[in-house]
Amino acid sequence: MTIYLSNFRMQHRIVLLLPLWVLSCHLLFCLGKEEPRKILDKEGRSFSPQQEAAFNQKRERMVVSQIEARGVRDPKVLAALRKVPRHRFVPPPLEERAYDDTPLPIGYGQTISQPYIVAYMTEALQLKGTEKVLEIGTGSGYQAAILAEITPHVCSIEIIPELTDRARKILDETGYGFVKTRKGDGYYGWDEESPFDAIIVTAAAGHVPPPLLHQLKTGGKLLIPLGGPYEVQMLTLVEKMQDGTFRTTQLLPVRFVPFTRKTGTMK
Ligand code: SAH
Repeated sequence: MTIYLSNFRMQHRIVLLLPLWVLSCHLLFCLGKEEPRKILDKEGRSFSPQQEAAFNQKRERMVVSQIEARGVRDPKVLAALRKVPRHRFVPPPLEERAYDDTPLPIGYGQTISQPYIVAYMTEALQLKGTEKVLEIGTGSGYQAAILAEITPHVCSIEIIPELTDRARKILDETGYGFVKTRKGDGYYGWDEESPFDAIIVTAAAGHVPPPLLHQLKTGGKLLIPLGGPYEVQMLTLVEKMQDGTFRTTQLLPVRFVPFTRKTGTMK
């Protein structure tokens, strides 16, 4: 009888334990299997290889239809736009629109510039690949990454600290950790890192900040959208000539978010 009871208990246990055993074997098998590699960023985003492939296709279409079709020819600029994963620089709900022909909101009332404008401005700097470049208005970090594809010496200043932090993380995660970023008012430039071969201002200002002209090398180029906030501005190229004078060329009507100071919009 005793034997019978213990047999019964054994059977009972086996019936109970068998499914658990099968389940744990299954789990071990799954863990052991190689998971398809996902890219995780600090916002908790991950993209499957299929999603990445779809983004690559969209990026290629963007370059052909928005950038090449409008006349951007510099091979370095085209290669940079083909390479930098713009979808990683836009906020999570907008990834699917990252390659659209438009600026997109990045929070705090700011925007990531339209791809064509990024390409146009980068081409206008005529970089060869060794220059030191300063960007004012890091925003999403995308323009900084495009510049970093062309030259390893990129510095970028952003006045909204939360955006600097966000851009810093994304630049680190996407392989542009060598870009130097700084929180602060770009009006004063970055004296310790100066002089610069090129300065690119990605917010609309009422005038060219004198410290930026001062930190520009002779022969250097400064690009800035000039004009009032919330109206069409003129993208302006300022070149520092050998004799110390400045040559100004108006390039293209554009619309940028305002260049701000601690006290408000810059006049
Ligand atoms: N280059 C960015 C575009 C950002 S929009 C990109 O690729 O995403 C312009 C940015 O300039 C905004 O983030 C804004 O906060 C910043 N900005 C405005 N005034 C500034 C100032 N005085 N100094 C530094 N950044 C400034």
